[in-house]
Amino acid sequence: MSMTCDEFRDLLHDHHAGELVVEIKEKFEVHRTSCKHCGPLHETYTHTVRITAKLPKGGPLPPAAEARLREVLKDYLDK
Ligand SMILES: [Zn+2]
Repeated sequence: MSMTCDEFRDLLHDHHAGELVVEIKEKFEVHRTSCKHCGPLHETYTHTVRITAKLPKGGPLPPAAEARLREVLKDYLDK
C-alpha cells in the first residue's frame, strides 16, 4: 500500500531525525520521488532544517525561512 500525502507530511520530521524504520523509509522515498506535491515540500523542509540547525538552540526561525516554509505548507494544505 502506498503512502498518502498526509502520512508523508507527518513523517517529515521523523525522517529528518533519522527515526524511520527501513520499510517506512522506502515508502517515504517512493512517495517523495513520485508525488509532485511532496517532492518540493521535502526539499523546502530539508533546506529549512539545514538553516535552523545552524542557529542557537531554541532560537526563532529566520523570518525569511519561516515565511517560506509557511508559504509552502499553505500551498500544500490548500491543494
Ligand atoms: Zn504527496
